[in-house]
Amino acid sequence: MEKTEKIEVIEGDITSCKTDAIVNAANSTLLGGGGVDGAIHKSAGPKLLEECRTLQGCMTGEAKITKGYNLPAKWVIHTVGPVWHGGTHGEPELLANCYKNALILAEKYGINSIAFPAISTGVYAYPLEKATRIAVNEVKRFLTEHELPKKVIFVCFGKAAYHVYKDLAEK
Ligand code: ADP
Repeated sequence: MEKTEKIEVIEGDITSCKTDAIVNAANSTLLGGGGVDGAIHKSAGPKLLEECRTLQGCMTGEAKITKGYNLPAKWVIHTVGPVWHGGTHGEPELLANCYKNALILAEKYGINSIAFPAISTGVYAYPLEKATRIAVNEVKRFLTEHELPKKVIFVCFGKAAYHVYKDLAEK
């Protein structure tokens, strides 16, 4: 399969994705927050927070996995994106690590399909186009080198993000 066929871009709410796993753009406490993190905890139910409490947080660029509880997805892979401080504080490498480490975990758990939000582009203020280039590059690279996951969906919250992703993912 061509690597671009394994990638899909959709507009929507990641909490309704029926992929094996969804990725959460969490903060380092893993104890919930706003944005996509808040939406995921709300849909998954309180058991997700209970499991997250046992994980002792997560460093920026790292990833940890929990069950999905009431979500349609069986797994949630929590990763902590970098806060944008102008781009010269290691932000690109840290953001790339988020995608890479989430995919490594997915492969380890035999996950076939996984959905990503636009990590760091909300409250963490990473410029959308720069972040999207990193997301697309990391995912494409991983998919050419690994059998799993077989399918990666980029879930865009709103039309603007959707168009940026579509442009860059289909190149
Ligand atoms: P961060 O702190 O990593 O910036 P945010 O949750 O603030 O995380 O935003 C990350 C991205 O997730 C933003 O592009 C935001 O528009 C998007 N987002 C927010 N809610 C959802 C959702 N329910 N499904 C998919 N994406 C979402």
